[in-house]
Amino acid sequence: MPARIPNGKPLRLVLLGAPGVGKGTQAEMIHERFGACQLSTGDVFRDEKISCEENLSVTGRAALDFMRRGALVPDDTVLAIVTERIRCLRCSGGFLLDGFPRTVAQAEALEKLLQSENISLDAVINYDLPLEKIITRLSGRRTCAHCKAVYHLASQPSQRPGVCDGCGAKLIQREDDRPESVQVRMAAYEQNTRPLIDFYAERKLLRTVTATGSPQEIFRRTCLGVLGV
Ligand code: AMP
Repeated sequence: MPARIPNGKPLRLVLLGAPGVGKGTQAEMIHERFGACQLSTGDVFRDEKISCEENLSVTGRAALDFMRRGALVPDDTVLAIVTERIRCLRCSGGFLLDGFPRTVAQAEALEKLLQSENISLDAVINYDLPLEKIITRLSGRRTCAHCKAVYHLASQPSQRPGVCDGCGAKLIQREDDRPESVQVRMAAYEQNTRPLIDFYAERKLLRTVTATGSPQEIFRRTCLGVLGV
């Protein structure tokens, strides 16, 4: 049974931050503790790639191509995917948006969508980490091809190299964690996503959490600094 935040209300959060700051891991931990529904647009694209690449529409294939290169998928495609999953936004346990919005146009569209549903955000958590630490995290990250558990070659290695501790499947490096894609992703973040910090600060929703240290330390900071628990 998930814990509740003090006022007993569902949590509705956007998790913001550059690629590799650990938003996905924090989303997982917040979900486990508080039960809010997790929506990661990156996971949606990766799942489509695994399950039905051959049957994808032209738009779907183009989206995967953007993703492989580390570039942002066009706003229309992303918004269509989120709108298809509107039930996540309506979830009575609340929601955690991980990797969405990533552009001002997406943030404006989300604002309209939430207004039309009469739902408001509790906070936007901006996970902050210096660039050189981000590059180290991304280049050493390995992901389980089956259960999506995340490891790091240096800071969180699996017990047997290349094998997931949880399910025994192979660990892989995401295509977009390779150096050439990482550069494109960081540029896309600087140009398109960083402006969302001001966007949400103006709306008094922004809370910044330093993303150094272990996932547990970052989670403690999130709980104390943002959720007040
Ligand atoms: P992530 O797992 O969040 O790092 O996302 C992986 C990739 O999916 C990104 O590098 C983009 O190519 C694509 N993607 C995920 N979410 C979005 C979004 N909100 N807008 C545009 N592209 C996205």
